Amino acid sequence: MANEPPRTDPVDELVACILSQHTSDSNSIPAFERLKATFPDWQLAVDAGEERIADVVRNAGLANQKSRSILRCLRQIHDLVGTYSLEHLRSMPMVDARNWLTALPGVGPKTASIVLCFSLGMEAIPVDTHVFRVSWRLGMVEQKAGEGKAHDTLLELVPPDLAFRFHMALIQHGRAVCKAPIPNCEACVVRAMCRWFAEDGPDRRKTELKAKRAKPSAKSNPAARKKRAG
Ligand code: SF4
Repeated sequence: MANEPPRTDPVDELVACILSQHTSDSNSIPAFERLKATFPDWQLAVDAGEERIADVVRNAGLANQKSRSILRCLRQIHDLVGTYSLEHLRSMPMVDARNWLTALPGVGPKTASIVLCFSLGMEAIPVDTHVFRVSWRLGMVEQKAGEGKAHDTLLELVPPDLAFRFHMALIQHGRAVCKAPIPNCEACVVRAMCRWFAEDGPDRRKTELKAKRAKPSAKSNPAARKKRAG
């Protein structure tokens, strides 16, 4: 596992993150590459406008919405910084830099943390679906508090110099072992310290899912359909 995040330009990373929302890498990465090839300078994209950007990133899905977000972010960065750059964030404390980014239109803590971690090498912890699921199952954060709040809680718990490794380890563990909806606890190396396992969470979840699958749906059961119809 890499100890250091790869470095990318922070504005590029921000735009790539917006494109990656609600779609797979196989859709968003080519869309980002097309965008960069079409507009080698962000000013060209801003001048081209929302509809033209949407045409270029169409394959990333939600093209109109993403094009609008990209344009609004680029304009605000230019208004505040005077150029399309986020280099000034390097000299800020990490939390201040994150607050600066989350003040941009449509930028949440996950996107901001990705930019800080992967582009600027700062000790942020992006909380995606895997990081969140493993964290609450282990008992590091409360599930009901949500992903947004988990960003702050994990920063309090994880030593700053381990932030990137922690992020990568939880993603790997969430993909390979602590999967949704059923984790493979038998193969888990941190089972002894897992709160959810100690509370029989995985077994309860299996029972719930079994019961759900066994329940006849209205489609397969005419009697249930009739009852619902009233
Ligand atoms: S014991 Fe099970 S639920 Fe807990 S972290 Fe490991 S795989 Fe996930």
